[in-house]
Amino acid sequence: MKIAIFPGDGIGSEVTREAVRVLEALDLPGLTLFEGDVGAIAYHRHGHPLPPETLAMANASDAVLFGAVGDPSCDNLARHLRPEQAVLGLRSELGLFANLRPATVFSGLEDMSGLRPELARTIDMLIVRELNGDVYFGDKGIREIDGGEREGWDMMSYSESEVRRIAHSGFQAAQKRGGKLCSVDKANVLETSQVWRDTVIAVAREYPDVELSHMYVDNAAMQMVKDPGQFDVILTGNLFGDILSDLASMCVGSIGLLASASLGERQTDYGTFGLYEPIHGSAPDIAGQGKANPMATILSAAMMLRHSFGKADQAERIEAAVSNALADGIRGGDLGGTLGTQAIGDAVLERL
Ligand code: NAD
Repeated sequence: MKIAIFPGDGIGSEVTREAVRVLEALDLPGLTLFEGDVGAIAYHRHGHPLPPETLAMANASDAVLFGAVGDPSCDNLARHLRPEQAVLGLRSELGLFANLRPATVFSGLEDMSGLRPELARTIDMLIVRELNGDVYFGDKGIREIDGGEREGWDMMSYSESEVRRIAHSGFQAAQKRGGKLCSVDKANVLETSQVWRDTVIAVAREYPDVELSHMYVDNAAMQMVKDPGQFDVILTGNLFGDILSDLASMCVGSIGLLASASLGERQTDYGTFGLYEPIHGSAPDIAGQGKANPMATILSAAMMLRHSFGKADQAERIEAAVSNALADGIRGGDLGGTLGTQAIGDAVLERL
């Protein structure tokens, strides 16, 4: 079981170090970890944020554990050389089209949520966001119109096959959870969304055990704040998913607790190839100070064991260790506590 570890920049290396300690503590036979450079550190060492050797390492692995990228030293570089391009490059080069972001409030942390505690307590959802299509990847440009005024334009589109493959990911995720899938679109206004909705309905016939509903994205944003407990799996496109997944994150509370998985179609000997990362960035404001909360990265490693290695039991062990640490009052600065990165890692390891 080959795992490529790409710590990246800033707190990325601090938080991945703790996740690696957790993975090693499981003592799984056949586990091999190897490390590569991405982001600003890769640019400074190899002249590119995603060097060919890093990409080759990802391709040779069964899963990637990714820290975070981004460094102020690269702010003035040409866009294609900026550290953040490494994330987009890996997603497209590795064909990672399905982004899974669970949002659950840990017991005892209800007060960290932007919502009232009694609402926060009900949150247990998974957002499945399409990653490779939509308005982000369509033709775009800035043109001059009448009178020399500039006009920006971006083309939004989804083909049936693009929707079909992400819909399967969504339905299969719902089968493993509460059996409910809410597809979010804007079919009252957008033709792209009409194709999305028609295709999701067609795919639903293969999953009679999953209860399908549809919601317009504006209503979904409202419902997520008003009654978040109604959602199990939310399936949506790239643009709407970008916004809704950040909204869900803040309904949960701290950015230091949220994990994610990006999956493709490639199957390995063990499961589905994927890239796993915390949703936070490189946090230059606290980098190098040992203050970052590593729990999101540790939980990302748990997702990896579940989705890429079929080891749900080990994933649950890690999730329980994190949950118990939080219940015992283990808190980093992001949760109003004082514990540092390594001390939080130690606390999780003890409970493991
Ligand atoms: P950020 O997520 O890095 O930080 C936002 C705030 O949250 C900061 O105050 C930070 O200290 C805090 N924070 C983040 N993670 C934390 C953790 N684990 N524990 C404790 N506190 C934590 O977002 P930003 O400041 O907008 O971006 C910083 C850099 O990261 C930028 O270069 C940005 O482009 C990059 N970025 C990268 C990714 C990625 O690698 N996938 C994602 C988002 C942002």
